[in-house]
Amino acid sequence: MADYELRIAHLYGDLMNTYGDYGNILALKYYGKQMGVKVDSNIVSIDTDFKADDYDLAVFGGGQDFEQSIVSKDLQKKKPELIKYIEAGKPMVAICGGFQMLGKYYIDAKGRKMPGIGALDHYTEQQHDNRFIGNISIKNDESGDTYKGFENHQGVTYLGKGEKPLGTIIKGYGNNGKDHAEGAIYKNVYCTYFHGPILARNGQLAKRMLLTALHNKYPDHDFSKQAALEVPESY
Ligand code: GLN
Repeated sequence: MADYELRIAHLYGDLMNTYGDYGNILALKYYGKQMGVKVDSNIVSIDTDFKADDYDLAVFGGGQDFEQSIVSKDLQKKKPELIKYIEAGKPMVAICGGFQMLGKYYIDAKGRKMPGIGALDHYTEQQHDNRFIGNISIKNDESGDTYKGFENHQGVTYLGKGEKPLGTIIKGYGNNGKDHAEGAIYKNVYCTYFHGPILARNGQLAKRMLLTALHNKYPDHDFSKQAALEVPESY
């Protein structure tokens, strides 16, 4: 019997799931189990009601431009509850297309502008006949953690107010190929261009999200045992 229970909202998991992004759900369940936590996930998609209070963790994967155009419309209905979720300090990982849609807008490969929800202050412009593809590694300046993954995106993202990059580029392109920044952190939201999937390849980030969710849900409990869990090096 698990001592604790956490629920993941897998945002548009049936539409936004490129390059094994589902592995992020598996990684949270895997490390959760080692921490004595039962982790359940639910796909929250088109026309599904989303309530911030129902979830402790959220995963928003990447997608193709077509799927993103569908998600962009539906997201507007979920915007108030998603902002409530984020502002409450609940953890989320948002990858590539998911990262783009949390910002103000995304311009796709054909030049079409899709609104995001502006929960975070970044915006994403298009590249002309180019994509950033390849292995990537970054360093998080605060924790010293190194994260590794694979990027494949045409959009170029510029961070705004209140956001810090997830890390500084060691190898690869990152947000825009210019300012050495990769991803974004705002409150407990981790945005990134890393597929791979990021939490499977970078267990320390999965552990950090789980610990945050546990502290949020069970504020008076001592999680030092869970915090001592050893996770493998990023690969
Ligand atoms: N369609 C977006 C882009 O090309 C996101 C791609 C992705 O999620 N892999 O930038």
